[in-house]
Amino acid sequence: ARKPFISGNWKLNPQTKEEALTLGNEIAAAITEDSPDVDVALFVPYVFIESTMGVVGDKLSVGAEGVCPELKGAYTGAISTSMLKSIGVQWALAGHSERRVIYGETDDYINAQCRKLIEQGMSVMLCIGESLTEFEQDLAASVCAVQLKKGLKGISAEEMSRVAIAYEPVWAIGTGRVATPEIAQKVHAQCRAILAEMYDAETADNVRILYGGSVTPESVDELMSQPDIDGALVGGASLDSAKFGRIINFKP
Ligand code: 13P
Repeated sequence: ARKPFISGNWKLNPQTKEEALTLGNEIAAAITEDSPDVDVALFVPYVFIESTMGVVGDKLSVGAEGVCPELKGAYTGAISTSMLKSIGVQWALAGHSERRVIYGETDDYINAQCRKLIEQGMSVMLCIGESLTEFEQDLAASVCAVQLKKGLKGISAEEMSRVAIAYEPVWAIGTGRVATPEIAQKVHAQCRAILAEMYDAETADNVRILYGGSVTPESVDELMSQPDIDGALVGGASLDSAKFGRIINFKP
């Protein structure tokens, strides 16, 4: 059985270290003995990673929102997996639609990031998902198939134990338009079938596939009750400790 995985993506928030620490502290406090047996991760801006780790302790993991696929050298502004690893970071995001669209990150570049993380013994949450036009043309599954195949190229079945997938339909991100549990379940099942084709049934069965896109306390329970939805990657609501706390304590 796959362990549920609730994660937050803070993106370009909050604006001060003080706010980050307050938020991290409150989120950690929402994880209690009564919480479901769930893994929790927060993807936070680089500058806040270490201090946030300090306030959350071992209740949850603090990851990076991205990495440079190079280890060192003349790459101004970049952060390497080795730097992150040296401060105890396990997880990083790759392939978020904001990185694809705003920063022009390609499937090849995303694949290089995934491979570097895996090579360094770290874990990666690969984000995939179709645009609104693609969704309307019924292309969700085929877009996800391409992004999975290109993003995971060169990663072995064994290494897939350190990979999680986040299905984030672009039309649902930050729009308040959450995918219905039925739509999300359907695409998650299709993604799992693609993984089974790429690897094998057992590997596909063990990979956690999270849903992301306007997840709230109101929508989380029904999403989490779907057989192929193993968690959530939460943007906006992860900046509100009451809301994110309720999402962590989902009731399937
Ligand atoms: P929202 O929850 O704000 O829609 O963002 C989702 C997301 O992009 C998480 O990575």
